[in-house]
Amino acid sequence: MEEKVVEYPAVWIAGASCSGCSVSLLNSVSPAVQNLLVDPIIPGKHVSLRFHATIMAGSGEAVIQVLRETSDKLPEKFILMVEGSVPTGEDGLFCTLGEIDGKEVTMKDMVKELASKAMAAIAVGSCSSFGGIPSGAPNPTGAKSLKQFLEEEGINIPLINVPGCPPHPDWIMGTVATVLLSGIPDQSQLDEKLRLKSFYGTLIHDNCPRRGFFDAGIFAEKPGDEGCLYQLGCKGPYTYADCPIRHWNNGVNWCIGAGAQCIGCVEPDFHDMYAPMFEKIKENDYEKFKIRIKSE
Ligand code: SF4
Ligand code: SF4
Repeated sequence: MEEKVVEYPAVWIAGASCSGCSVSLLNSVSPAVQNLLVDPIIPGKHVSLRFHATIMAGSGEAVIQVLRETSDKLPEKFILMVEGSVPTGEDGLFCTLGEIDGKEVTMKDMVKELASKAMAAIAVGSCSSFGGIPSGAPNPTGAKSLKQFLEEEGINIPLINVPGCPPHPDWIMGTVATVLLSGIPDQSQLDEKLRLKSFYGTLIHDNCPRRGFFDAGIFAEKPGDEGCLYQLGCKGPYTYADCPIRHWNNGVNWCIGAGAQCIGCVEPDFHDMYAPMFEKIKENDYEKFKIRIKSE
């Protein structure tokens, strides 16, 4: 007998973003994005992605109506996925998703409408999770993280952050799969920044293949040198993610493996606090962040 597949509706909307998170999702290899769209992502459970502006064929008022219908007809049954931060300046007019009856529908208003009816929200990427580059000083658009925006609007729904600039496709797919497999993660599964510990639970610095150089005090002086990249601005000692183990591009390599510093792209203080990217963080910032670097 054929197994019954349960549909889990989801909508993905994008605000102040570069679409890099969508591109990362499209680069997923296992499962491939077509499997996500067509097949059960885990046995018996299929994500019915009702709206994704970058990959859907539809356009215009009809697709904006799909968002409306989702919140009206599927209350507390759908997952809201948000890419990019939420611009709030000028009553949200810095970012519109489309029009209905000739009137602009702002990202701000649509997030409010959908989040107030959603079962849970997933903030995809660092802009949505923490504000990211669009909220960088002086932040002329009033861009806010999803968490900050929901709190200010008094909307209380389960929220999971999947930061990264962009996030690894496994982190996006894995978070969705976790929700389908075992429901909304409880506090024990998330860190204090609402990230799944299974992906963001280890310090880059502790798993870095160049750690031996750091401990021995051997530092690269210019790109391409052998040695630890700390003096060249590596933020690995401040950054929690499994990149050194998981690797990117279907396991081919990762930032430090390719000779580039970790820029701390999954952390709340990326990018303002971690800039300039290729300069060492100032000593007094260690205190500020209460970071301990064991060997220094
Ligand atoms: S500072 Fe960066 S390059 Fe050096 S060991 Fe730590 S993570 Fe690796
Ligand atoms: S190594 Fe650092 S900068 Fe590179 S993807 Fe991982 S967290 Fe982001």
